[in-house]
Amino acid sequence: PPRVRFAPSPTGYLHVGGARTALFNWLLARHTGGAFVLRIEDTDMERSSDEMVQGILDGMRWLGLTWDEGPGVGGPHGPYFQSQRLDRYRAVAAQLVASGHAYYDYRGADARATASETGDGGPSAFGPKQYDETSVSLSAEEVVEREAAGMPRAVRFRVPPEGRTVFADAVHGEIGFDNAGLEDFVILRSDGCPTYHLSVVVDDMDMQITQVIRGDDHISNTPKQVLLYEALGAPVPGFAHVPLILGPDKKRLSKRHGATSVMEYSAQGVVPEAMVNFLALLGWSPGTDQELFSADELVERFDLEGISGGNAVFNPEKLEWMNNQHIMQMSDDVLIAQARPWLEQAGLWRADFDGPGRPWLVRALALLRPRAKRLGDIPEGLGPLVRPVVFDPAAATKHLTPQMGAHLDALATTLADTAPFDPATIEQAVRGTAEARGVKPGVFMQAVRVSLTGRTVSPGLFETIELLGRDESLARIRAGAR
Ligand code: GLU
Repeated sequence: PPRVRFAPSPTGYLHVGGARTALFNWLLARHTGGAFVLRIEDTDMERSSDEMVQGILDGMRWLGLTWDEGPGVGGPHGPYFQSQRLDRYRAVAAQLVASGHAYYDYRGADARATASETGDGGPSAFGPKQYDETSVSLSAEEVVEREAAGMPRAVRFRVPPEGRTVFADAVHGEIGFDNAGLEDFVILRSDGCPTYHLSVVVDDMDMQITQVIRGDDHISNTPKQVLLYEALGAPVPGFAHVPLILGPDKKRLSKRHGATSVMEYSAQGVVPEAMVNFLALLGWSPGTDQELFSADELVERFDLEGISGGNAVFNPEKLEWMNNQHIMQMSDDVLIAQARPWLEQAGLWRADFDGPGRPWLVRALALLRPRAKRLGDIPEGLGPLVRPVVFDPAAATKHLTPQMGAHLDALATTLADTAPFDPATIEQAVRGTAEARGVKPGVFMQAVRVSLTGRTVSPGLFETIELLGRDESLARIRAGAR
């Protein structure tokens, strides 16, 4: 079974693109019964922090992307933090020098040259005029001299001058690069730190990763990594480079488009079920029109063939729609667990919601779900049902006129005897009163709504009356009539 990994650099929170990469890896692992490894690529000590690591783990946990090996769970191929594997990278670099696949570079250029996170080789291969201070061109004595003097040196990988490096990509098909276009890239800096190319290959090799799924910004890094695998005599994993995520304006997704951190969506009241569903469809398609998926269904359906080569567009309205759909479909218990912090925050949580008050809460939620685009819409809708009515002044002036007061009193009298007190019967009572009093049903119902909730917008009127109960409804309608 495949072994896949998510290998974030903890230089920021878990962003949408990273979360999508993590999700695809997780889905492949769960679909195939393989293993999902989480590895923290924290070799850039200055830009990495524990806080960011925690942020990434929190984001993954929120999405439900459990890992089989990695931080907190351990595993046979640890440690899973690159900062704890430096000796291993140094040993492999030395091994590559010994086997002739890499050489020392004493020019001291690498610190300047290779600070970039991708470990891009930095300034150019050697210009013809530049005095060559590498172990390739120095005599054996000169090398010994420089070593004895403790001269700083980087290790560069020796790219074959000719030929092509080709790899299979599950998304893009076969991809090849001319070796002549690849410079001899640094694998170990003079300070002993590995570049990304070395650490990623050593780890993927040691952790026996069989399939690398990552963003397609890494395509140009892949030939260098393939050369490293080959030099190490290690099997080359399969690759699947996932297309970029673009904003609605077709520009690369960025803060300009809104939240980019996954936990910001959580804070906005997006449920993880919807986020997972939404992320899965950013670049993957089941091959049908189905848009709503549970995580289990995604696991069942996911395959690399469904990943499209075209860029994916992040559509916030679609996320909002999906969020509403998942809020509508989730079980009462799951919804209550997720809505609870929002209700507590709004001062609307009651201790008895865990006990005898729960059936009422379940009924209230049934009423509120269809309009809930975000979890925050639930306290928003529940507040008017459990708190004393606060009238929107404009709505009260417009709808609770003196003539309307008499009609509302008539309704209260009717509702006092309406039985059963269910939405259908309540509807008959409301419509019957409107007709009897010669007032348009729509106009009358708005007045009833304002008297019940203080607002012109509410969940279904008859269900709201049922939920409030007879006594409370009558009291509110009568108060509205004054
Ligand atoms: N740490 C790299 C990144 O975050 C990992 C790239 C890879 O998956 O190879 O971009």
